[in-house]
Amino acid sequence: MTITLPETTVPTSAVAAIDCATAVQRLWDYLDAELDASHMAEVEAHLRGCSECGPHFAFARKLAEQIAASRTAVEPCEALHERVVAALAAEGFRRARPGTFDPPRV
Ligand SMILES: [Zn+2]
Repeated sequence: MTITLPETTVPTSAVAAIDCATAVQRLWDYLDAELDASHMAEVEAHLRGCSECGPHFAFARKLAEQIAASRTAVEPCEALHERVVAALAAEGFRRARPGTFDPPRV
């Protein structure tokens, strides 16, 4: 599995320079593509020009890929679902519509 990051649309001239500490601080958010476009671009620009951070990011990216690949799909357990629904009903919750409950009225 390969993690694909979105292309940033921030012009190169608008990208602020960041130091290694800032780049590493943003590492996981960058790999999860959870930074805004300008911060993504800052990290990308830093990685292009920094030989120190490249290996750290490559390791983290590989680790994230391995974790994602090792996940196994878990089928929902119908028996557990029924026990939760029964417990909610026993506490006074009422099914508002399929899949949701209203809290008990006090
Ligand atoms: Zn660096």
